[in-house]
Amino acid sequence: MHDVVIIGAGPAGLSAARWCDELGLDTLLLEQNEEVGGQLLSVHQPIENYLGVRATNGRELRDRFVEQTKDCDFDLWTNVEIESVDLKARRVALRSGEELRSIAIIIATGLRRRKLGIPGEDEFIGRGIIESSGDRNAFAGKDVCVIGGGDAAAENALLLAEVCPTVTLVHRGKKLRARREFSEQLHTNHCITVFPESVVRRIIGSEQVVAVEIERAGAIKPFQMAVQGVIVRIGFAPNTELVRDQVGLDERGYVVVNAAQETTMENVFAIGDVANPLAPTIPGAVGGGATAAKLIASRLKG
Ligand SMILES: Cc1cc2nc3c(=O)[nH]c(=O)nc-3n(C[C@H](O)[C@H](O)[C@H](O)COP(=O)(O)OP(=O)(O)OC[C@H]3O[C@@H](n4cnc5c(N)ncnc54)[C@H](O)[C@@H]3O)c2cc1C
Repeated sequence: MHDVVIIGAGPAGLSAARWCDELGLDTLLLEQNEEVGGQLLSVHQPIENYLGVRATNGRELRDRFVEQTKDCDFDLWTNVEIESVDLKARRVALRSGEELRSIAIIIATGLRRRKLGIPGEDEFIGRGIIESSGDRNAFAGKDVCVIGGGDAAAENALLLAEVCPTVTLVHRGKKLRARREFSEQLHTNHCITVFPESVVRRIIGSEQVVAVEIERAGAIKPFQMAVQGVIVRIGFAPNTELVRDQVGLDERGYVVVNAAQETTMENVFAIGDVANPLAPTIPGAVGGGATAAKLIASRLKG
């Protein structure tokens, strides 16, 4: 029996664990991946906007977070597969057969990448679908297509343009949603072509990806463009499958919380991106962890 079980060890979960530990709560942090850090592990550009720390990429910031939890006493279990969660009973069942009980649960499961749901997207995983621009050297010298119009798409297009002769960024909107500095760099980079008001309908290939089929607004019919790599960055969806029927969610599936990060279920909290549809950020996630921990400690310790 723990005071607190935290599910997810991104910035939110790590912050909550750090605070819970400092406040004297017996805390267990569960992470499904081998490594902690969540989305930070897929940030390859410098992080300049987290006050007090400048990091050359997300992994460096993650390392600093981990460093700052080194003297803590909370338990961290990675590679954990959660079978089910009973929020009312505050019971977490693991696929290994173990059952965990706690007084409070903090949901910090963050977001996952959305998929397009088009033919070829799953079929060519590992055969031309680019999982991360961190793997860009495997695509050096190849023509690639980036799908999406936000920060992640823009960032990936810029990184791929360092090694690829042509990068075509295809997005639905009239204008990119990416932050200004990214958009400016995209438009001045001679390797990158931007197709606005366009949709990729399918990814084509046999052994490997050879082309994408694109539909452009105003064009009479779709056309095929030869590429050997495709990366999809069309946004995120909250990881709420475990708790979907047990706490209030908004229309997009994010956990509804009050200002103290409390969900609609007593002694169950949600923090970070999974409960922040409007402004998902590292400081938001870290702050939510502190808020939830302080409230739990004040209830349990008085
Ligand atoms: C390319 C990119 C650039 C970004 N740049 C910035 C920036 O400059 N500044 C900024 O403030 N923010 C930035 N962000 C956003 C920032 O990374 C997120 O807001 C932050 O990581 C959210 O933290 P989190 O802990 O809520 O969620 P996440 O980082 O998503 O972590 C959630 C964790 O929960 C784990 N998990 C999920 N389900 C389960 C389960 N069932 N069991 C166990 N564990 C589970 C996941 O594996 C993951 O480790 C960027 C994001 C991206 C992708």
